[in-house]
Amino acid sequence: MANTNHFMKLALAEARSAGARGEVPIGAVLVLDNAVIAKAGNRTRELNDITAHAEIAAIRIACEALGQERLTGADLYVTLEPCTMCAAAISFARIRRLYYGAEDPKGGGVDNGVRFYRQPTCHHAPEVYSGIAERDAADILRKFFQLKRQED
Ligand SMILES: [Zn+2]
Repeated sequence: MANTNHFMKLALAEARSAGARGEVPIGAVLVLDNAVIAKAGNRTRELNDITAHAEIAAIRIACEALGQERLTGADLYVTLEPCTMCAAAISFARIRRLYYGAEDPKGGGVDNGVRFYRQPTCHHAPEVYSGIAERDAADILRKFFQLKRQED
């Protein structure tokens, strides 16, 4: 699991960078054959694009770089449980494994909410591993929202 943590650390760094840009601090890293093929944080505010979640941003970067629409065999590391939109994009991209940090009971779509991968309309489900560096991932989000409340 040493490598797993290494990639999650990179995702946490992406989350912190996103927070520093005033975005909700969520980060994602895509790995293929043990090499990082994309790193991204949330960019919804910067791009005025609600689909620019970290996971989708990373998928776009990787697909562009590889010149293909699917990422068969790739593993995604993301600091928070993906939402329904991202869970579906991960499925459509044929990602092999999903590693996520903190659960998101309010907005998640993997182990909460619609539980997309357990639905008959889901035609590819990645293997899911949750709770990777969970405390760090949750801390980054909690601190961000604490600061935001103080600013309001
Ligand atoms: Zn999402």
